[in-house]
Amino acid sequence: MTGTIALIVAAGSGERANAAGNQPGLPKQYRDLGGLPVLRHTVRAFAAELGPDFVFTVIRRQDRELCRSAIAGLAAPEPIIGGARRQDSVRLGLEDVAGQISPAKVLIHDAARPLVSPAVISRVIEGLNSADAVAPMIPIPDTLRRKDQGAFGLVSRDHLFRTQTPQGFAFEPILQAHRRYASESFTDDIALAERAGLKVVGVMGEEMNIKITTPSDFELAQRLVLSALPDVRTGTGFDVHRFADGDYVWLCGIRIPHDFGLEGHSDADAGLHALTDALLGAIGAGDIGSHFPPTDEKWRGAGSWIFLAHAAGLVRDLGGVIAHTDVTLICERPKIAPHRDAMRRRVAEILAIDIERVSIKATTTEGLGFTGRREGLAAQAVATIRLPAR
Ligand code: MG
Repeated sequence: MTGTIALIVAAGSGERANAAGNQPGLPKQYRDLGGLPVLRHTVRAFAAELGPDFVFTVIRRQDRELCRSAIAGLAAPEPIIGGARRQDSVRLGLEDVAGQISPAKVLIHDAARPLVSPAVISRVIEGLNSADAVAPMIPIPDTLRRKDQGAFGLVSRDHLFRTQTPQGFAFEPILQAHRRYASESFTDDIALAERAGLKVVGVMGEEMNIKITTPSDFELAQRLVLSALPDVRTGTGFDVHRFADGDYVWLCGIRIPHDFGLEGHSDADAGLHALTDALLGAIGAGDIGSHFPPTDEKWRGAGSWIFLAHAAGLVRDLGGVIAHTDVTLICERPKIAPHRDAMRRRVAEILAIDIERVSIKATTTEGLGFTGRREGLAAQAVATIRLPAR
């Protein structure tokens, strides 16, 4: 029997948070929050406490690709497809997990609470030692008033608490409760647990554990995330490859038909090599040659996306995010403009960041020098990253 698993509920359409922002139509759990998708923050928080194998995500069927790219490289299980209501999604998630492993406890958490802290997660797990259902709660500091026929009457805030997630449960009892009361509707899993007669206890929640619902919640979460990553660094990279016989080149992850090929040990993608070096430079981790020696037969003909993904992984291992990347390709030919959008998309995909954070530019050297003589091409890159304070 496995110990504790997390079930991250990410099957909503997140429409209310979508009213503003630069990613209209994208469900809030996949939107960029300080350099990473909301869902990635959330899954990462639980993976750090429970191990990635035990963090299950429930999503909408049409969001499968969005989810895959949001949690790429975290080693979390394949996402589970949810249902119409949140409650249905939780039930389907529990059923799916029960078919794979039999955990003792489950933490059910909203994907839209990406700032959940290790302390809150630990308190909920600990609470499960003395109860079958645990909810983090916080007292209400504001004075409450109830609008009644145009007047605002005072409401006592004594004994009032706000309930957050993760809500923790003994696994079998909450699964049984979800099956039994599937035809009724509950606002959260604690309410359902109460209906089933489970003993519920409260532990202290956290003000920072906000649920992103509206555009202003998003703004607040954005500030909180960025303030936790105050150490801004940049790195630069430069690379050159010589033209050789061939009829295509790889540039910024895109295969482009051309009158020549590019000479190199790997696929000779100078754009991705320069960008890889820029990321390595930003964290002081040597250069591409020290990670992937050109003398190593293993990398002959290798796709350079492997090098770039590795460098991005090193940034993430430090708890950092990639704030921005900018690549300049220097050549007379091939023409870059027709491929620029595809390049941006591909680089964003490799780095697992939003496309808004990826820039690709091109220039010539006005016929001067080796690029002007079309003997080869060059690329330079700048990467800006943010790291936690240390
Ligand atoms: Mg190179």
